[in-house]
Amino acid sequence: MEGEMDGGMDGGREGGMEGGREGDGWMDGWREGGRGREGGREGGREGGREGGRGREGDGWMGMDGGREGGREGGREGGREGGREGGRWMDGWMDGGREGGIVQPLILLYPPPVSPSLQRVFIWDLDETIIVFHSLLTGSYANRYGRDPPTSVSLGLRMEEMIFNLADSHLFFNDLEECDQVHIDDVSSDDNGQDLSTYNFGSDGFHAAATSANLCLATGVRGGVDWMRKLAFRYRRVKEIYTTYKNNVGGLLGPAKREAWLQLRAEIEALTDSWLTLALKALTLIHSRSNCVNILVTTTQLIPALAKVLLYGLGIVFPIDNIYSATKIGKESCFERVIQRFGRKVVYVVVGDGVEEEQGSKKHNMPFWRISSHSDLMALHHALDLEYL
Ligand SMILES: [Mg+2]
Repeated sequence: MEGEMDGGMDGGREGGMEGGREGDGWMDGWREGGRGREGGREGGREGGREGGRGREGDGWMGMDGGREGGREGGREGGREGGREGGRWMDGWMDGGREGGIVQPLILLYPPPVSPSLQRVFIWDLDETIIVFHSLLTGSYANRYGRDPPTSVSLGLRMEEMIFNLADSHLFFNDLEECDQVHIDDVSSDDNGQDLSTYNFGSDGFHAAATSANLCLATGVRGGVDWMRKLAFRYRRVKEIYTTYKNNVGGLLGPAKREAWLQLRAEIEALTDSWLTLALKALTLIHSRSNCVNILVTTTQLIPALAKVLLYGLGIVFPIDNIYSATKIGKESCFERVIQRFGRKVVYVVVGDGVEEEQGSKKHNMPFWRISSHSDLMALHHALDLEYL
């Protein structure tokens, strides 16, 4: 039955659907397949990232060294080694503004870890917190005795909204080929200039990106100017997310807001309040001062942010707590999360997929499987009783 739905849905999607990965990777696979893109383009960047680890010591003392480290993935090193990456940026920025006098350093990156933190919940997004992929394929409807065409149509409407938001407000047209794991991953290329009157439409970034394939696996990197424009976009995305995470309607505007609220209500009705159940657990965790929610999704970062906003999850996931595993896989994302929060806290992985389950095993983290509403209810119950 599920196969029938896949086949019947839309011929144009099939290539990408087959090419894409299972679960929430499907969407990326579809988009890549649809536009004729190849996978495996990240090799060069990942190599650079690794190479950058050694450079953390350059810190803010040497601008060139620091920049090089940051550009080549030295942020990974900074993250791992503690604070060197972030310190470099602050130091450099302060130095630039203050004529070389290094001010007391405020650590922007990575975000400071609260000393009271005890537990980190690492959530999968698709088919764990939100029902999206299985709406599109009709598998949810088949499993729960709902009308498959209705389900597919809801999924398509949500998909359109996700990419509309991503394109019109989050620069997905510009950033699709320049995907990052974390919102701050290129912030070391940001010179901190005021962007309030900056014209993103005419700064030449898009033309340069598409003509030179700057973000592809060619190994060619953009120049300093181009990297700065990239960093500006991610900075603006962060501002927009943070401004509108509790007011998505304000971002969409009145007409789209109505359509969005209607769609959300219809999806909740068809899915027997799946999202509401997940949000109960997420909200409870969020209310605790000693716990934190982290999102690790296989969706590319920008569409993932659009999904989080549209499903009303912005409050429980500050943007700093969102990681995209598209480029590096979930296990590597888990490693980044562990590097950030350290070994003294307890990590709990919540998900539906094999990838997060295997990643959790590898790092000896308990895995809470979500395969039905009752799993979400049981999780909330366990949290409520403070078993978790
Ligand atoms: Mg999933």
